[in-house]
Amino acid sequence: MRVLVTGGCGFIGSHFANYLKTKGHWVRVADIKPKEQCYLKLKADEVDRIDLRDFKSCLIETKDIDWGFNFAANMGGIGFITKIGADVMHDNALININIMEACRKNNVKRVFFSSSACIYPAYRQETPEVEPLKEEYALPAEPDQFYGWEKLFTEKLMEAYKKDYGLDIRITRFHNIYGPFGTYKGGREKAPAALCRKVAETPNGGTITIWGDGKQTRSFLYIDDALEAIYKLMQSGYTEPLNIGSDELISINELADLIMEISGKHLTKQYDLSKPQGVRGRNADLHLIEKALDWKPKTSYRKGVTKTYRWIEMMKKQE
Ligand code: NAD
Repeated sequence: MRVLVTGGCGFIGSHFANYLKTKGHWVRVADIKPKEQCYLKLKADEVDRIDLRDFKSCLIETKDIDWGFNFAANMGGIGFITKIGADVMHDNALININIMEACRKNNVKRVFFSSSACIYPAYRQETPEVEPLKEEYALPAEPDQFYGWEKLFTEKLMEAYKKDYGLDIRITRFHNIYGPFGTYKGGREKAPAALCRKVAETPNGGTITIWGDGKQTRSFLYIDDALEAIYKLMQSGYTEPLNIGSDELISINELADLIMEISGKHLTKQYDLSKPQGVRGRNADLHLIEKALDWKPKTSYRKGVTKTYRWIEMMKKQE
């Protein structure tokens, strides 16, 4: 297959581009970021620095492509998507509209889109002991962030392209993917990377700050498990939105404690209630993906967080 990976210098995209090479595909990466800023050494056959908000660029990138994986997005963790609304909606809508139309014009055989657990309604995520989110819960819609509304819009856009033009689509809703070689500083990092960084940069006996009261819950999926699920979804005949995540709920306090234990440091947690914490609880329901793809997460939090922490610790030492 000739495969396009948009956002291929980002966290999931770079891992996935290299994964595709292990499966023997020809891979083109398209990203607005220079490849030197990608933490992973890319094994792609072609790496193009290009702005996918521009339609002509999308036409160039989708030429002679069999499979298109669309990971490109202006995004970040809860701090970033709470603060930035307009640019996130504007940039991501443009990227996704342009990529879809370019894929249609260039007869790309199959198109994958990275949607998000952020599309799920806030009213189903109000307690830490939250019920896992089933795919059918997407409507009636009430995402808590603009970022989630744009993702929902693009899911519908893809459904329309499938209906009107017969485009062969695959849509996943990622639930908090984490691992090494992702953003860990600068304001766009997500909770696991941010907590690893805080622990790595704080001397033994010091204090780290947790956003909110730490009792908010999430489930996190290790990147290697996500890669396998993405590939299986693309190979399958499943064209409805599908959760890719973990159903093992963990509080932010428990995650911070695990990271501290892995680091061997004794640190005190202090709480900043003025910081955004997102929904109170969020968990993935995996019944559909288990049935459709015969897939389950394999990596324990201890194993995945250890790999992530060791990488961030090494990066901090090199700074
Ligand atoms: P990331 O920020 O690491 O990667 C996104 C990449 O897109 C970046 O390399 C960025 O430079 C690129 N990009 C941004 N604007 C661009 C433009 N105009 N033209 C070309 N490239 C552009 O994010 P990620 O964590 O790898 O996420 C990948 C996808 O998965 C995104 O669509 C994201 O919304 C979605 N997602 C991720 C998670 C997660 O936990 N990581 C959860 C839900 C959804």
